[in-house]
Amino acid sequence: MSKRPPRTPRIGTVPDARALRPSSPSQDPAHRPSSTESGRAGAFAGMWGWDREFDVYDDFDLPTYVGPTTFSNLPWVTDPAELTARSVDVAIVGAPFDDMVTHRPGARFGPRAIREAQNSSGSINSLQLDVRPFDELTVVDSGDANIVPARFDRGHAMIYRKVLEVAGTGAIPIVLGGDHSITWPSASAVAEARRPGTIGIVHFDAHADTAPDSYGQLAGHGSPMRRLIESGAVLGKNFVQVGLRGYWPPVDVLEWMNEQGMRWHLMTEIEERGAEAVIDDAITEALDGADAIYLSVDIDVVDPGSAPGTGTPEPGGLLPRELLRAVRRIVGKVELAGMDIVEVSPPYDWAESTAMIANRCALEAISALAVKHRAGNAVRFGGCPVRGRRTARAR
Ligand code: MN
Ligand code: MN
Repeated sequence: MSKRPPRTPRIGTVPDARALRPSSPSQDPAHRPSSTESGRAGAFAGMWGWDREFDVYDDFDLPTYVGPTTFSNLPWVTDPAELTARSVDVAIVGAPFDDMVTHRPGARFGPRAIREAQNSSGSINSLQLDVRPFDELTVVDSGDANIVPARFDRGHAMIYRKVLEVAGTGAIPIVLGGDHSITWPSASAVAEARRPGTIGIVHFDAHADTAPDSYGQLAGHGSPMRRLIESGAVLGKNFVQVGLRGYWPPVDVLEWMNEQGMRWHLMTEIEERGAEAVIDDAITEALDGADAIYLSVDIDVVDPGSAPGTGTPEPGGLLPRELLRAVRRIVGKVELAGMDIVEVSPPYDWAESTAMIANRCALEAISALAVKHRAGNAVRFGGCPVRGRRTARAR
């Protein structure tokens, strides 16, 4: 799994007419042919045709249910030196951490479920964007942060270090959560890697996640956005929220958000103006002074009818197609510094519905980056424009 596999399967010889017909003259099961009469594959192989040549597929092209689970069967590359050596454009990172949830647990199983929620393998083709993302970009799965249970401070430190390590190679991290508290260390790491440049955040969520604390806990999954603004990782005016609804936060928290210059777009605004117009405003607002965008997708922004597998569901949310379109639109228009997709709780999911939406959020972002790369733009941080390289490459 450590080497990027070739994209075309090796084709063996066409099966011959002996298919599934015993080659032995006897149909009697008691007749045991000797190995010497059938060559290296053995007597039973010769008897049933199992010694014929068949197509053999590499790890990348095999169905996704075969073999170890990586995102889209991509190579598992955890060594930052190798990420640098391969000039990796995008790296999937798992943050299997849910110690900070206030209601339903289970998001620790999110990264694995999101990786598994894909049934196409190999050199896939985006019908939405007319691009084959894995042909255009170098994408790998960088594995998970070094998480153990019930050590939330350690867990956040490990997520920070892992994301910083990946982002430090120039690869764009796409982090699979995990509860939403992981955005605190993850976006902090991306902000650190981008210094002296600055990041804005576009945050999809039913909830603002700007609480001062949760029952006295400062690191809870209801507070990461406040911690990011307090620390200066992102300015309030470059923090834009989309999809808020329901019965939280209370007025005093909204007042704090206003004081920070934060901007938010309620679901009611999307209902009235349509998602497209609202997303375009969010892009303009987030880029108001910031160099690049960190995109944080809490899957509970989607209506729980489509995405039930989440910690704090709130009825009345986006359609999956609205979210996927928004991800394509945002990543196509801004410089993406990093991304996370959080709050997928597989124990509450049905038929992998929530995990699939999360999986496609990552794929849509990767595909939108691939379109930019094809147009001659660098995708890696600090990467050179690829126009020259592309013309030199035979395609
Ligand atoms: Mn959230
Ligand atoms: Mn939420």
